[in-house]
This record gives sequence, C-alpha cells and structure tokens, in this order.
Amino acid sequence: MTQATPFLLLSKARTLSMKDIYTMGEDGAYDLFCKMGWPETEGKPVCPKCGSLDSYHITTRRKFKCKDCAHQYSVTSGTIFASRKLPFVDMLACIATVVNGAKGISALQLARDTNHQHKSMFVLCHKIREAMASEIAGATLSGTVEVDGCYVGGHIRPANLASERVDRRLAKHQTGKRRVVVIARERKGRTLTTVTKSEADGVAFVKAVVAADAEVHADEASHWDALHAKFKTMRINHQVAYSLNGACTNQAESFLARLRKMVEGQHHHVSPQHLHAYASHAAWAEDHRREDNGQLCHRALGLAMAHPVSRTWKGYWQRSS
Ligand SMILES: [Zn+2]
Repeated sequence: MTQATPFLLLSKARTLSMKDIYTMGEDGAYDLFCKMGWPETEGKPVCPKCGSLDSYHITTRRKFKCKDCAHQYSVTSGTIFASRKLPFVDMLACIATVVNGAKGISALQLARDTNHQHKSMFVLCHKIREAMASEIAGATLSGTVEVDGCYVGGHIRPANLASERVDRRLAKHQTGKRRVVVIARERKGRTLTTVTKSEADGVAFVKAVVAADAEVHADEASHWDALHAKFKTMRINHQVAYSLNGACTNQAESFLARLRKMVEGQHHHVSPQHLHAYASHAAWAEDHRREDNGQLCHRALGLAMAHPVSRTWKGYWQRSS
C-alpha cells in the first residue's frame, strides 16, 4: 500500500488549502479516495460485483482483480468518477475548490488553476454537483417553510432611455432562456429547489415536497393563494413590510439573491437545462454553511464515491460532439 494518508489531519482541519492537498500528493489523495470509497473496510478494496474482500492488486495501474469472480475494478468503478482520467490529487483539488467557493467557481477558472481542459473541468464540476444534490433526494420539509421564486438567466440589457425599456414579463420580450428557480426552505432545516418556467409552476413543487402539517410562508404573489387549500399559509406583502405578524420569507429571498449572484457573477452563461444543478449546489452550500471546508470536502467526496455512474455526465462530450 501507499504511504499513510493524513486522513485525520484533513477531517480535523479548520481550513483545507490547495497546499495541503498538493502536499498530500497523488498517493495521499488516492488513499483518501479508497477510504471514502470503501468506508466499511477502512479503505481495503471490496469487489463491486460480488462483494469479495480478496483481490490481487495490480499496483502499477491502481486496479484490483477479484480472487473470487475475476472482475477487474478500481476505487472509482461504479461511482460517479468511473473511467476517470484525471489524477486523484487534481480531482481532490477540484472538489475542494468547488466546496470552497461561496459564490461557486467557474469551470474556466478551474481549468486555468489545474491546467486541465475546460471540458474535463466542466463535467467534473457537474458530477460533484450531481453528488451534492443526491444528499437530499426525496427529502420532504416540515415545521416552518419559506417559499419564494426568482427569475434567472435570459438577461435582456435594459435600454438607456426609460421610454424605450420593455416589460420583460411579457412573453414577446423574453429570450426563452429565462427560468424561475423556486425554493422551499425549512427554518433550521434543508433547502429544496426546482426550476420551472413560471413561478406559478412552483406551487405543485411546494405541494409535493412540503408536509401537509407544515406552516408555509409566502409573499403576496397571487399564485401562492393556491397554497392555502393545503397548508396553514402566512403571507407577507413586501410592499408593506419584510416581516409582519410573524410572516417572513427573508431566508428564502436571501438564498435566491445569492444564487442569482452565483449564476450571473461567476458562471455567466448557465443554460436552462443545467440551472437546476447550480440551484442545488447553492442549496447544499447554504445548508452546510457552518461546516469548515475540510468537512465540506469530505462530505462532497463521500457523496460522490457513494453515487452511481451519472447518466447525464458519463461520456457527455462524446455524445454532444
Ligand atoms: Zn468479485
């Protein structure tokens, strides 16, 4: 086996720097992947096909051959990082960078930092996001839940003269790339998001993910009226106040403001079909904002190593080219 990994050092670290990761090196990073990929054996290989613990180690290629079923595998086989080409240390650096960036990190920036192709970084970042999103797959919210929505993307630069500005809510003035991110956020709990074409479409989402006995807080927008039939619903009219008689959607709104900054400031061109990935990345970051970046990196790596091969991102560029 390779040298001992500074595993505890990493999990206890208050801050995880690029220097820490590159000091750990390829062997150290590989060891960490093994520990996260095979947590039940503390990093000893387990055949993904038959579960056997007996294997031959093909040292040079970091592969294993099962003594029981002859299956050849590596630590990333069957995970979202399957058929990886990047060094482990660079993948770890990417995960750390993605979890570190409070406003997100662009694949272009990452490509420059790691000296890998933009295409590889784009897909790797999305695989990490898909793994993050899996943490709350199927989750429901209860207690007090704030809901809200905001338009993202499809930006039309406002005309200089006020008289020439158009009403961007009208269909004829939209680019077709504009989407709504709808959020349902449990106070002291998790944040769930979805992407729809209009905020009114968010009603069905809220009904699906929020428990019937929850208290839902929404703003004055009329489409939320439909929530009253299912939930005890509190409304806040923002033309009157941000918080009144206990009704408040500030947490939902602050999340959406951050998301808009992340998408428009860091990523610039987010296509409508990928917007949900950025929204769930931002929700994940929001829900774990009190964890230090060593913990976040561990959490993301653990999720990725437990996540199956991605249907969306496996061979993405081969299919799209
Ligand atoms: Zn086997």
